[in-house]
Amino acid sequence: MVALVDRFGRSFPYLRLSLTEACNYSCSYCLPDGYRAEGRARFLEPDEIRRLVRGFAALGMSKLRLTGGEPTLRKDLLPIISTVATVPGIRRVAITTNGTHLPRHVRAWREAGLTALNVSLDTLDAGRFREITGHDRFAEVTEGVELALGLGFDSVKLNAVLLRGRNDDELPAWFDYLRGRDVAIRFIELMRTGDNLDFFERHHLRAEAIEQQLLAAGWSLRPRAPDAGPAREYAHPDYRGRVGIIAPYSKDFCAGCNRLRVTARGDLRLCLFGDFGIGLRPLLQSDDDFDALVARISTQLGLKAAGHGLHQGQTGLTPHLASIGG
Ligand code: SAM
Repeated sequence: MVALVDRFGRSFPYLRLSLTEACNYSCSYCLPDGYRAEGRARFLEPDEIRRLVRGFAALGMSKLRLTGGEPTLRKDLLPIISTVATVPGIRRVAITTNGTHLPRHVRAWREAGLTALNVSLDTLDAGRFREITGHDRFAEVTEGVELALGLGFDSVKLNAVLLRGRNDDELPAWFDYLRGRDVAIRFIELMRTGDNLDFFERHHLRAEAIEQQLLAAGWSLRPRAPDAGPAREYAHPDYRGRVGIIAPYSKDFCAGCNRLRVTARGDLRLCLFGDFGIGLRPLLQSDDDFDALVARISTQLGLKAAGHGLHQGQTGLTPHLASIGG
C-alpha cells in the first residue's frame, strides 16, 4: 500500500465525503436563505462512492466522514453506509448531521456500520436554536442525541459554531449538560466564507476566549492522539463529557491537517478553502479505472498547500460550507 503523504510530511488517513449540497436548515452563517438547487444536481451515486472509497482506502485512508449539505437527506443513506463500512481498510465511518433525522433513523445507521456521530447543536436554548438555524427542531435533535448515546457509538460529539452575541454565554449550561453525559461538545470558531462576510464581521469570536474560561473553571487540556481531529480537547474530573475547541485561525492549525475532502459531485479538494478542485468522477465510472484513480489522487496531493489563506481573507472556492462538506 502507498500511503498518502504530502511534501510537508503530513499523512491523510481521513476523508470527508460530501453526499449532497442540499440542506433542510437555513443557518444564519451558512445558508441564510436556505438551499436552492442550481439546475438538476447529480450527486455521486452509491457505485461511484464505493469506487471512490476503495481508491482512498488503498492509499491508507481508514476514517471516512459522510457530510454535506445535510447527508441524511439522501434517501439511499442506509445502503451507502453499509457499502462504505465494508470496504477493506475502513475502520471508522462517521457522519456529521444537523440531527433532525436521528430519532427515526439513527438505530438503523448504527446497525448498518456507522461508528461515530457528530451532531450540530449551536445552542441549548430552543428559541435561540430557531433563530440561528431558521427551524424549530431543537426537541427532535436533542431527543435524537439521547437515543444515540445508548447505541454504543465509538463517539458522539456535538458541534456548536461560536457566535458573538448569539450563543457565547452558554458555557455554564453546557457544563450542566456534560456533567453526566459521555459526549464532547466542540466549539468551532466561525470561519469566513465567500458569502458570509457581514455576518462574520459581526459575530466572529476567537475560540481562545472560551479556552480561558475553561481553564479558569478547572478544565485541563488532554494530550492529542495521533489520528485525532483538529480539536484541542479539555476534560474535568467532575464531568463525564469533554469540551473541544476548533480554532482554524490559530497558529499551526494547518500543520496538523490530516484530512482531504471530496465534494458531492466528485471533486477532490485538498483544502476546505482551496481555490481549485480535481475532478475524480470520470474515474469512478468503472472498476477498471481503479489504478488510474489511485494514481490521480496521489499525484494531485503534491499540490496541497502548507496552509489556508483565511488570515488574508482568501476563502477560495467556498461560498459556504454546505457547498463542499463542512
Ligand atoms: N448539515 C450537517 C450539519 O449540520 O452538521 C453537515 C454539514 S455542515 C456544513 C458541517 C458543520 O459546519 C456544521 O457543524 C456547521 O455548523 C459548520 N459550519 C457551517 N458553516 C460554518 C462556518 N462558516 N464556520 C464554522 N463552521 C461552520
